[in-house]
Amino acid sequence: MLFSDANADYKDARYVICGVPFDGTSCCRLGSACAPLEIRKASHYFETYNPLFDIDLKDIRIHDAGDLAVVKNIDETLSMISAHADKYIKDEKMPVMLGGEHSLTLPFALACKKKYPELGFVVLDAHLDLREEYRGSRNSHACISRHILEEVTKKYAAIGIRSGAREEYEYVAENKIKMFSADDVYALGIEKIMQEIRDYIKGPVYLSIDMDAIDPAYAPALGSPEPYGLTPRDVRDVISCLAPKIVGFDLVEIAPAYDSGNTALLGAKLVRDFMAASAKAGLCF
Ligand code: MN
Ligand code: MN
Repeated sequence: MLFSDANADYKDARYVICGVPFDGTSCCRLGSACAPLEIRKASHYFETYNPLFDIDLKDIRIHDAGDLAVVKNIDETLSMISAHADKYIKDEKMPVMLGGEHSLTLPFALACKKKYPELGFVVLDAHLDLREEYRGSRNSHACISRHILEEVTKKYAAIGIRSGAREEYEYVAENKIKMFSADDVYALGIEKIMQEIRDYIKGPVYLSIDMDAIDPAYAPALGSPEPYGLTPRDVRDVISCLAPKIVGFDLVEIAPAYDSGNTALLGAKLVRDFMAASAKAGLCF
């Protein structure tokens, strides 16, 4: 099954959706490997017209490249995926990656970095993901933000954080990492935070949405759910605010077995809102 309104050939497409059905380093609730299929199924529940952005998704050039091949081993999987990520960027496509677990973000962010040396990175997540390694793997999903900071860019901001080891919080303080907790969003409002991020990251941006940034009341089907989270509207506001700068996008960490489809539905809607917002705004940085 293809994502709804993905009617374009690869050659003509602006947006290339790809699924990566891999959850090999996940430790709590497994199953994000099944998310690309469930997100695609859920994408068909919506009207093609998006009134918020006044864009009809059937009028924009979207291609669904299907699921990328993966193997059991994360390191090998990452190197297989990076060939695809590099090709999408080289061919001037906007990658829209459906995870799968959060470690899969790295090859896409690295591919964008090659084309845009000034790349910034914004992540929505409940978790800091700043560990150097977790359970014996440096490429665990619990390490993704550490990789981004060390290998991709220091122009980095995290929103929605409310979980991490003491050492990870110390790393944030020592390195003056731009980090906004879910409580910051609740207290200040998302617009204020986005203003600050926009002043800090001026150029192109990669946006990675770990769905557990959202409160489990709205998105219960997650690998590592964490209460006191963001609302779906907060996330939509981030997408719409950053849209003109976004050059790569992913949405990861849905574990579909843990609800009756609501979380995949919300994930599909956010992906559709991203493409509509991006098509409306064009690229501008
Ligand atoms: Mn994460
Ligand atoms: Mn997370």
